[in-house]
Amino acid sequence: MSDQQTDSRRGLLSVVGIGPGSDDLIAPKALQAIQDAELVVGYSTYIKLVKHLLKGKEIVRTGMTEEIGRARAAIDEARKGRRVTVVSSGDAGVYGMLSLVFQVLAEDGWTRDGNPELRIIPGISAINSCASLVGAPLGHDFCAISLSDLLTPWPTIRKKIDRAADADFIIGLYNPASGRRQRQIVEAQEIISEYQEGTTPVAIVKSAYRKPQQVVLSDLDNFLDYEIGMNTTVIVGSTQTIMHDGFMVTPRGYTNKYTWDGEVLDGQQPARSLNLDALAQREKH
Ligand code: SAH
Repeated sequence: MSDQQTDSRRGLLSVVGIGPGSDDLIAPKALQAIQDAELVVGYSTYIKLVKHLLKGKEIVRTGMTEEIGRARAAIDEARKGRRVTVVSSGDAGVYGMLSLVFQVLAEDGWTRDGNPELRIIPGISAINSCASLVGAPLGHDFCAISLSDLLTPWPTIRKKIDRAADADFIIGLYNPASGRRQRQIVEAQEIISEYQEGTTPVAIVKSAYRKPQQVVLSDLDNFLDYEIGMNTTVIVGSTQTIMHDGFMVTPRGYTNKYTWDGEVLDGQQPARSLNLDALAQREKH
């Protein structure tokens, strides 16, 4: 805490998401923060993805299990007055380094106008990049659930899957499996199947916008037959999700109110809540 008061140079800590893994899906502001950095900190896999952008820069790369040390190192270096950029895949705030950075800062008594200055730059999270490869699966209410029980108790995760499936959310499953962790995705399939039909569309996207990208469209009964690992995101549709010519689409509900010619249906009004009686009448016919 002491050097926060004594160091007159205010360092800069940028925390950036680099998107799914291809250069053209990194926000220009995130690229700029990487280019401007004296020191770049990140998990080895992500550092490798942006390696060609890091020539001449100091790099701190560490394994997955050393996240606290990595956040600590980034903050300490920035506090010395340096420009430090922490890179995370996807969006840094989604199961990424950003919340940990905040926790370490809070632990140090850091405040918004303290040292270092903190800049956050958003990235395209896996749920969005993976969705774009299969169509419009997130056209209605969706949620993300991580199946990693390394830091969260499995019963807590089970409960969220259960409630999300019961509430008919489209569910994006992050961290679905790893070499050692194979059981969770099997249980997730069982839980969701209590509420959703076996024909519900499921997308399995591995290494979106990286090599070797793999996209599989399946359904709730059969998707476990395909390879699911560390770099995979699984998107399970809702009762509304349909397949059209190899695309997975969840409609927003326009047909509850309009004809395909854009006419408003009997009993409905644009810019007003759906008239439920009129909707029920139509569904009867
Ligand atoms: N911060 C990241 C998520 C990190 S958790 C983000 O916003 O995307 C790691 C999980 O993210 C992986 O297990 C996988 O489920 C998902 N993921 C990250 N990058 C991916 C990619 N390119 N393709 C598919 N899934 C990816």
